[in-house]
Amino acid sequence: MSQENDCLFCKIIAGDIPSTKVYEDDTVYAFKDINPKAKVHVLIVPKDHYPNVAALAKAEPARLAHIVEVAKSIADSEFHGEYRLVFNTGVDAGQTVFHVHAHVLTGEVLDE
Ligand code: ADP
Repeated sequence: MSQENDCLFCKIIAGDIPSTKVYEDDTVYAFKDINPKAKVHVLIVPKDHYPNVAALAKAEPARLAHIVEVAKSIADSEFHGEYRLVFNTGVDAGQTVFHVHAHVLTGEVLDE
């Protein structure tokens, strides 16, 4: 696994910073967002460090597709398979952690 020093989510994946695990396999890790914006707010990250979704899509499109599948399975168990999937990409789009993460928002009817 390629990880980066001083990356918050690499430290969470390594277990050096605590998190509440929702799902894990060989390639991805999913955990509860510390500041939830919906009843269920989960972050899904690849275990390897990519700075944003565009970099992941270019290098490993199958892993990006897998993240989408994991999001669906979380929403299937939490809220009849309906969910919002967000990748903030870049400072001006609101990205604050530069390890690609899918925000999965579900568990309730969401505002538009
Ligand atoms: P934003 O902070 O604008 O949502 P991002 O899209 O980069 O920017 O999302 C980073 C997310 O990481 C935020 O939703 C934030 O609440 C979450 N977060 C930050 N630190 C932790 C942590 N230690 N454990 C879980 N989630 C965290």
